[in-house]
Amino acid sequence: SISWEQEIQEQFSEEIIHVDQATREKLSKDYYWYSPVLNRQLEHIKAADAIVTPRNETEVAEILAFGYRHHIPVTVRGAGTGNYGQAVPMQGGIVLDLSRMDDIVEIGPGFARLQCGVRLGVIDKKAREAGQEIRIYPSTYVKATVGGFVSGGSGGIGSITHGNLWDGNVLEAVIYTMEEKPQRLVVSGPDLFNYIHNYGTTGILTEVTIPLSPRTEWAQAIVQFDTLEQAMLFGEELAQEAAVLKRLVAPMEWPIPSYFVPFAKVIQAGKAAVMLEFAEISLPLVEQLASRFGGHIGHFIAANQYRKTIGVSDFTWNHTTLWAMKTDASMTYLQAGFKLESYMEQIRELKAKFGDEMYLHFEWVRSAGLLTPTALPVVRFQSEERLYEIISYCESIGVRIFDPHTWVLDHGGRGEVNSMELKKRVNDPRGLLNPGKIIVEM
Ligand code: FAD
Repeated sequence: SISWEQEIQEQFSEEIIHVDQATREKLSKDYYWYSPVLNRQLEHIKAADAIVTPRNETEVAEILAFGYRHHIPVTVRGAGTGNYGQAVPMQGGIVLDLSRMDDIVEIGPGFARLQCGVRLGVIDKKAREAGQEIRIYPSTYVKATVGGFVSGGSGGIGSITHGNLWDGNVLEAVIYTMEEKPQRLVVSGPDLFNYIHNYGTTGILTEVTIPLSPRTEWAQAIVQFDTLEQAMLFGEELAQEAAVLKRLVAPMEWPIPSYFVPFAKVIQAGKAAVMLEFAEISLPLVEQLASRFGGHIGHFIAANQYRKTIGVSDFTWNHTTLWAMKTDASMTYLQAGFKLESYMEQIRELKAKFGDEMYLHFEWVRSAGLLTPTALPVVRFQSEERLYEIISYCESIGVRIFDPHTWVLDHGGRGEVNSMELKKRVNDPRGLLNPGKIIVEM
């Protein structure tokens, strides 16, 4: 009898099956190495046995049926920019790379219907040409795919106005199940919660419909303040100011701005910075607010230069961690939710306790209608034990941690996963979709 690796090569076009070692290794990793904990646990995981790059839904369905028949694990991949090892095939098998399915199916008034492999930057460019724009996107939008964002991300630039993926930012999805005869489901409404941030464990998204907003002319700026407190108060006020359209309000304490090497000439040493993206027509109001809190605009990118140079937004969200790690390889990060009514007190407690072991970087987000100071603190890594001591202390003072040092959905940032586990049993009865990423008693 022949092995499944031979059979898959005989049955499918050589254009979509890749078994050479270099490709298998490259496409079996993601950006988990931002976490020293995940890096230790995942760097020696064996590569997938085959990489499949389907060109259409029919090929996706055929591969899933093949995998089901042979009991082969299937791990989906978009661009592989996830940070939690979500796209690592823990038990080998097939990595299904969907980046070739990159058609923009339709851009209509208020929506875009997309194949899962389209890059977010490409969608936004096309939408803006049509007088619209995407609402939320990760700071990796140049590479990241829409399917990977919906299945493995949470929020990003735009979340200060439109919330996270769960806040109506996915309208519909086409899902394939992992069964003898894979089904094509068209899902909308509350059932989407079983697929958003699912790491490809409950089904495979081949098409996604997302909402669009009218195009805005965005300016970007870095506003600097003597203290993080002033930067936070300014940020909160701007975040609450309904008259200013914005995509980004990101306060960070010194020395985080010192990591932003390309901005070295425009950043003032020793000061906190707030990274901003806002509608250019609101500049006078933003300047007025900044000076009320003792700040001034140190760097400004006008709307006509938008995305023509390195942008302020390229230093926010988890790109902040990236720049920190470039300067100081001992740095890693956490994901945290502070309390709106007591964040200042929580900041003081953390600074008193950890000093230079933790530098604070916030992203103001409005989710489920509520403004929240979410944070991606940069942390100096000493040991796993110490990292989890820091996490426990944060939680003891009411700072909620969404642990980025785990690939298990149940332990990470998703929160409740029960209904996803039920859905997985139905859609993936053999437990073959990205095994190890969700805890299911089968
Ligand atoms: P991948 O990494 O390829 O996949 C992500 C997960 O989704 C995997 O589990 C994969 O199996 C699954 N998957 C992929 N495609 C599908 C599909 N079609 N159907 C079912 N499952 C699928 N994330 C944020 O949310 N916000 C940020 O601001 C942000 N900033 C980042 C900054 C840096 C520097 C880095 C390295 C990462 C950042 N991320 C952020 C994480 C990541 O870049 C994004 O979530 C991105 O959208 C993932 O897209 P991708 O195409 O790379 O997905």
